[in-house]
Amino acid sequence: MTTLRRCDILIIGSGIAGLSFARKVEGQGRVVVLTKKGPSRGSTSLAQGGIAAVMDPADSFERHIADTLDAGAGLCDRDAVEMIVRQGPQRVEELIELGAEFSRDDDGGLDLGREGGHSARRIIHAGDATGREIQRVLIESLSGSRIELHDDSLAYELILGPGPDGRNQCYGAWSVEEGEVVGYLAKVTVLATGGAGKVYLYTSNPEVATGDGIAMAFRAGCRVVNLEFVQFHPTCLYHPLERSFLITEALRGEGARLLNIAGERFMPGYDERAELAPRDIVARAIDAEMKASGAKYVLLDATDLGAEVLAERFPHILSRTRELGYDIVTKPFPVVPAAHYFCGGVASDLHGRASLPRLYALGECAFTGVHGANRLASNSLLEAVAFAHAAADDVGKRLADLEAPPDDYRPLTPPEVREPEEMVTLDHDWDEVRRLMWDYVGIVRSDDRLRQAADRLRILNQHTDTLRQRGFFCRDLIELSNILLIGQLIVQSALLRRESRGLHYNRDCPRRDDATGAKNTVLAQYGYSAFTAES
Ligand SMILES: Cc1cc2nc3c(=O)[nH]c(=O)nc-3n(C[C@H](O)[C@H](O)[C@H](O)COP(=O)(O)OP(=O)(O)OC[C@H]3O[C@@H](n4cnc5c(N)ncnc54)[C@H](O)[C@@H]3O)c2cc1C
Repeated sequence: MTTLRRCDILIIGSGIAGLSFARKVEGQGRVVVLTKKGPSRGSTSLAQGGIAAVMDPADSFERHIADTLDAGAGLCDRDAVEMIVRQGPQRVEELIELGAEFSRDDDGGLDLGREGGHSARRIIHAGDATGREIQRVLIESLSGSRIELHDDSLAYELILGPGPDGRNQCYGAWSVEEGEVVGYLAKVTVLATGGAGKVYLYTSNPEVATGDGIAMAFRAGCRVVNLEFVQFHPTCLYHPLERSFLITEALRGEGARLLNIAGERFMPGYDERAELAPRDIVARAIDAEMKASGAKYVLLDATDLGAEVLAERFPHILSRTRELGYDIVTKPFPVVPAAHYFCGGVASDLHGRASLPRLYALGECAFTGVHGANRLASNSLLEAVAFAHAAADDVGKRLADLEAPPDDYRPLTPPEVREPEEMVTLDHDWDEVRRLMWDYVGIVRSDDRLRQAADRLRILNQHTDTLRQRGFFCRDLIELSNILLIGQLIVQSALLRRESRGLHYNRDCPRRDDATGAKNTVLAQYGYSAFTAES
């Protein structure tokens, strides 16, 4: 049996984007938040470095804007960048009012850190576990509120229906809860489902990052933009039991050095900024060293920092590496690059509205134009809170005028979960997609490898389609279909971009070409096309 529930505002995702928005619309009717595996299992809790904002009188909005535009390699939307930068101080103050305890200097002021690409100290952090602190206060703020949180609910399809003009509108979403299909009918739906790092074999992202929001929006006819720009973080810990533990670049900022497997320092040979070169350059250099030696990792040497600095500035990294058997105070330890952040996503405007009426997209699943071809460190948490604020404002103005959706909706999928007899085939497909994406659509790309990936992904897709046609329906299959779709969208976007820029590097067109490339790659369901810059 299919259950249908009604609410006014449906939010899918409980990271910084979803919960910041939820807090701001509390009281405007019934607000429901869905999250698929516990409220704090997204990327937000893992954020280490911090949140960027202009808090120092010696800094300025203009400098933060210029740094962001510079990192974005000619593709940022200036209005979107200005919007987040100017909101920064207010949004940070709000987090502090909520109870976030950020690190302080000796005078009691905020201890502002500095990261690669920022021309000033403007990173507000809570030691090296900033995201955990932000997620904590956001979850605590729910207690005693009227916001309903369903914390084992996997949304898999948007509910569509014709609006007054005959065009499709978003009327909520179908989800799987405790083995059953539940429909949530809502006046407004917000996608805040985070990124899609699980498309790749190595990722800093958590289990939940399977790109569900982007996949749902694309299937519903929304435009998705710039999916070729995947940020690979240069340094994740290499350990069989810990595949996604990020080693913040602040460690390199404090003096840690990268060594190849022979123990030789290699970064100065790639860039004069050595270990402090931008992330994409460091990640490509590590990739080249690993390919040249055949090793599965390179080494990070933090021994010069000393036990005291490591314990004070990087307590989380120190304790986790110790638990895993590494003594980073006295010995170099193994690291690999890993898929980290998606600059592209569901096209959304300055109010967070997606191209489908009544649908919003916030946080990492959205494409707002802020990051362009490369994200400046610590701007994503800022983007999430700034756009959550703008969207809440917009929804507040519109909600009373929106009619509730009719309730004669039935899902096209089976009403309950049915797993294939042999789950091993799903496991195999999962592994194959992730390895294929890593090997063929990773840090350094080529036309030939991209085309081979496209062919193979198409075949894997046929397999999941067959399973669905045979009536199978379960979480693993839903998520697998989503990573397959995201993989295909990344490949199509990468093939459309006939240049290398920012995070996208193709050996067959290795140079930036402003004559043809200074535009976003926009994909929509009824064809793939590249348009002149738009968002
Ligand atoms: C290791 C790491 C370190 C980082 N460090 C920084 C940093 O220092 N500074 C910075 O600015 N950025 C950093 N980032 C990036 C930043 O953390 C993320 O971009 C940001 O937290 C995304 O927030 P979000 O709310 O969009 O998504 P998330 O926090 O990922 O939340 C997504 C939510 O959606 C839910 N969800 C997903 N799919 C479904 C579905 N189908 N149905 C129901 N629920 C669903 C998930 O369960 C989760 O609750 C880091 C990222 C990682 C992985």
